Amino acid sequence: MKYCEKFKVKSGGKVRLDKIDAAFKDKHEDQTSALGELEKYTQRLRELQYLMYAEDKRSLLIILQAMDAGGKDGTINHVLGSMNPQGTRVCGFKVPSAEEASHDFLWRIHQAAPHRGQVAIFNRSHYEDVLVSRVHNYVPKKVWSKRFDLINNFEKNLVDSGTHILKFYLHISEDEQLRRFKQRIDDPARHWKISESDYTEREYWDDYSKAFEDALSKCSTEHAPWFVIPANHKWFRNLAVSQIVVETLESLKMEFPKPTVDISEVRRKYHMAEKEEAAKNGNKTKDKNRKKDKG
Ligand code: ATP
Ligand code: MG
Repeated sequence: MKYCEKFKVKSGGKVRLDKIDAAFKDKHEDQTSALGELEKYTQRLRELQYLMYAEDKRSLLIILQAMDAGGKDGTINHVLGSMNPQGTRVCGFKVPSAEEASHDFLWRIHQAAPHRGQVAIFNRSHYEDVLVSRVHNYVPKKVWSKRFDLINNFEKNLVDSGTHILKFYLHISEDEQLRRFKQRIDDPARHWKISESDYTEREYWDDYSKAFEDALSKCSTEHAPWFVIPANHKWFRNLAVSQIVVETLESLKMEFPKPTVDISEVRRKYHMAEKEEAAKNGNKTKDKNRKKDKG
């Protein structure tokens, strides 16, 4: 199944998150039957990212948004884990610092945009400024409601400059979120992930859903599409995201840059150097044998 088509939010289309099955797993019973496919995409991701880095012509920006415990960290680990750290970058966006807050909301985001040849992943993003800012009235409606157009224009500018943008909303259900909170409590190695706001924010689930639905509808564009990824099953989420990233990168028809040197000339020099090296080594062996005979 082509997840790119299935999960893409149609430009101008309405999104109803409660109508989308967060536990969807396509034809797979469980993780085992998806392993082969997952491995194939992981391998291909590695090759394509290497090609993008070598080509040095364009970049890829992956934006991840989700409710708390939605699996942003796990997705980053999976997608970037298969890539060469050289040529990749992860940026997490937390509550803006005093300096960040004293600029327009896109200021800090623009600085983190990937340069040519680079794959960047945003763990949260400028969308927080139409999500948390809206839910908690950090700014009035007349401010946040103008941001959808500002975001679309900003993203268009990046795309026109050679950045490909893929935006993933990792869709989990409320009960799955609670299950993950419990895992965090039960596992001391995850205690650091628990934050005061986890349960208070949960009370705003419907408000966040509404804010997400608006952001997904208003900002899924041809140039920077949103995808709603069923994410209750972590392995299925990884499979869907990997497939979409791979297919997008494949469609770019990237090519290794032409060599800047004459390869046949370099090959000739190499063979000469190889012969010289062999001759040197041959002489060294003769010298050694002579010394042995004398000794
Ligand atoms: P995890 O999912 O592992 O808990 P996280 O991304 O939630 O990781 P936290 O440090 O727990 O990381 O939370 C970051 C917080 O920063 C979130 O509550 C988010 O809403 C907030 N934040 C991010 N951007 C903005 C913004 N522009 N304005 C206000 N708050 C923001
Ligand atoms: Mg958190």
